[in-house]
Amino acid sequence: MTIGVIGPGAVGTTIVIELQKKYPDTLLIGKKRQELHYFPENEKEGIIMSVTPYQNIIQPLDVLFIAVKTYQLDSVLSKLTSIIHENTLIILAQNGYGYLEKIPYEHAYQAVVYISGQKNNNNIVHYRDYCLHLKDTPRTRQLQKLTNKTKIEIILEDNIEQKIWYKLLVNLGINSITAVGRDTAKILHSAHIKHICREIISEGITVANAEGITFDESTLNSIMTIYEGYPDQMGTSMYYDIMSDRPLEMEAIQGYIYNKARQHQLHTPYLDTIYSFLSSYQQRIIQNSSSQ
Ligand code: NAP
Repeated sequence: MTIGVIGPGAVGTTIVIELQKKYPDTLLIGKKRQELHYFPENEKEGIIMSVTPYQNIIQPLDVLFIAVKTYQLDSVLSKLTSIIHENTLIILAQNGYGYLEKIPYEHAYQAVVYISGQKNNNNIVHYRDYCLHLKDTPRTRQLQKLTNKTKIEIILEDNIEQKIWYKLLVNLGINSITAVGRDTAKILHSAHIKHICREIISEGITVANAEGITFDESTLNSIMTIYEGYPDQMGTSMYYDIMSDRPLEMEAIQGYIYNKARQHQLHTPYLDTIYSFLSSYQQRIIQNSSSQ
């Protein structure tokens, strides 16, 4: 069994570290050969992790996790043919939705990722969790067996769409207001911002319902309760990305829901406003990087 993980970041490195305890040959695959420092949950001592470049993979992988940011997926696709075979099980370990269709292989599955960490330069800190939700199929059941007795927990779902949309909604509210507001979770102390946040999620729920995924007012309240538990200084990935002038995963989160709203001809003024601001930012960042 050959296993590889593309994306030597917070999610990908956590998966590799844990799988290597049972399958020592598991590869952490990146753009170039390098060494990273990985700090496991609650530990001050770092572990040195080696990244294998694509050209050094000699045996096709049987299981491949892809854990790059959604806007980086295109740069991975062209590399796949040389490292996998037609039966490779591919797990797309990303936030957002709508990108699985980009992977032109039969056995590819969208994971809902609950692994929390952050990469800063060559340092990766893992905060908590080791969980991936996947659609229940014979292939994903095999993966669950494979990861048995590792910390990577595969939870098989009869209704993966519901799980994907729930995570989308959780990301939609807090990522939108922290990115556009350029502030951490403490921005929710403002009653006006809290109202905007509720309205965006509420519009997201309307879109989900139009897609046949059932959520109601209690979902909105449960998500707002989750946010209330966030420490004031906690940022979101979109907050950190916008503060560092990096691209955002907005097309896979706000953009996915925005496009679905257009398809269903729904009125979503809060979402449209947020999407417009984030699109304008994203275009500037992409133009700047292509002119460098
Ligand atoms: P990350 O820390 O930025 O890691 C992504 C890694 O992929 C980076 O090391 C990046 O390198 C590398 N990469 C980019 N293009 C590549 C390519 N063509 N080939 C190989 N490697 C490439 O991202 P992450 O936080 O792990 O997030 C991965 C996904 O999981 C995202 O969709 C995210 O939303 C989701 N997620 C993250 C968390 C979390 O707490 N971090 C939680 C839940 C879900 P460069 O930095 O050099 O570009």
